[in-house]
Amino acid sequence: MTTILSKRLGGVKPSPSMAAKQRVDALRAAGRRVIDFTIGEPDFPTPAHIVKAGIDALAAGQTRYTASAGTLPLRQAIAAKLGRENGLAYAPDEIVVGCGAKHIIYDALAATLNEGDEVIVPAPYWVSYPDMVALHGGRPVIVPCGADNGFKLTPAGLESAVTRRTRWLILNSPNNPTGAVYSASELKALSEVLLRHPHVWLLTDEIYEHFVYGQAAHVSPVKLAPELQLRALVVNGLSKAYAMTGWRIGYGAGPLPLIKAITLLLTQSTTCAAGVSQAAAVTALEGPQQCVTDAARLFLARRDSIVEHLNRIPGIRCLPPDGAFYTFPSVAGLIGATTPAGKSLASDADVVMYFLDEAGVAAIDGSSYGMPGHLRMSFATSAEQIEAGCAALAQAVAALRLPVPSLRKENSHA
Ligand code: PMP
Ligand code: GLU
Repeated sequence: MTTILSKRLGGVKPSPSMAAKQRVDALRAAGRRVIDFTIGEPDFPTPAHIVKAGIDALAAGQTRYTASAGTLPLRQAIAAKLGRENGLAYAPDEIVVGCGAKHIIYDALAATLNEGDEVIVPAPYWVSYPDMVALHGGRPVIVPCGADNGFKLTPAGLESAVTRRTRWLILNSPNNPTGAVYSASELKALSEVLLRHPHVWLLTDEIYEHFVYGQAAHVSPVKLAPELQLRALVVNGLSKAYAMTGWRIGYGAGPLPLIKAITLLLTQSTTCAAGVSQAAAVTALEGPQQCVTDAARLFLARRDSIVEHLNRIPGIRCLPPDGAFYTFPSVAGLIGATTPAGKSLASDADVVMYFLDEAGVAAIDGSSYGMPGHLRMSFATSAEQIEAGCAALAQAVAALRLPVPSLRKENSHA
């Protein structure tokens, strides 16, 4: 029988982060205790004043369709936020609101890619970029960015990836999955390369901007190179900063023709983001920002705790991330180890399965993010879960026969 499914769909994988969450939910429903480091979403509720704004909006009858680009009050609030926090000048009609930042990125690619167009995606990358590019007929051009450069794209790496077919560079700082944060000088150097290639657009995904630690600071590349504003899409959303993942509000700011094209797709697909969520988002952006500062402080303490605990485990090495709420530890020291059941751990995916089965700890393999030999572990979870999860991992590692003699010795003292 011929398939109903499109050829393009054949090349698309399920989002590994969503698949991992589903696996954890299924195991828990079956009665297993799982400590979950998979999904990247704050583990606390949306701040009460934002929830109240949503309830008030419903009670006031805001239960209808809105303009496809988003309500004017929300686009005004976003324009004000971009000016206040990022030093970027956008008019409300240069802003479009979607059902999450994911939706905006999806529609931006849908609106701009022709068959075979290339999109530069530095690896490690957020799992959805390459698949979204492929789904729209584009070709993701993956540029590996190793730990030696803090998992960041270099100007030389960018330069060598640009061809005549390049449409976009996708930059994500603070980064999911590594937590890398580009400094102003690093961004400036990358923007100089972009300025030499006027046909390449920049999609800058700044959804983790508020979660930066220590000396790291977030700055939008468009602020540093204002010439890029004519060919940049700034993507952001409320999911992470305001613990609003389920409300599904994200937005893009960019040149009018691109914003109009994305809006056109919204008129033919989702119509608009939920009106109640848009009303709550106005309050989130215009109300007190203490909730964001508090969340950042909480994540900093959790980051320090998880990095310290992971680095005590033989075979696991973890750089402290400068931002977001993910660690991306190397598990290269565990590959080649033998489990108590006699199985050899041949890859990071095997390590993930061993940790889930043996320790009841769920993480995601680095291969899914374009960088094998690592795990992604979200620390948007409680301090107790971090301690208990790392203790369980340490025990599971102690039960392994490790490949390298020095590690084996270390392990016997663990
Ligand atoms: N970009 C990155 C890097 C992310 O990690 C996420 C989280 N899913 C998103 C975009 C999309 O977030 P949302 O759709 O919830 O706004
Ligand atoms: N960004 C989150 C994560 O990486 C949410 C899941 C997703 O949208 O992929 O875990």
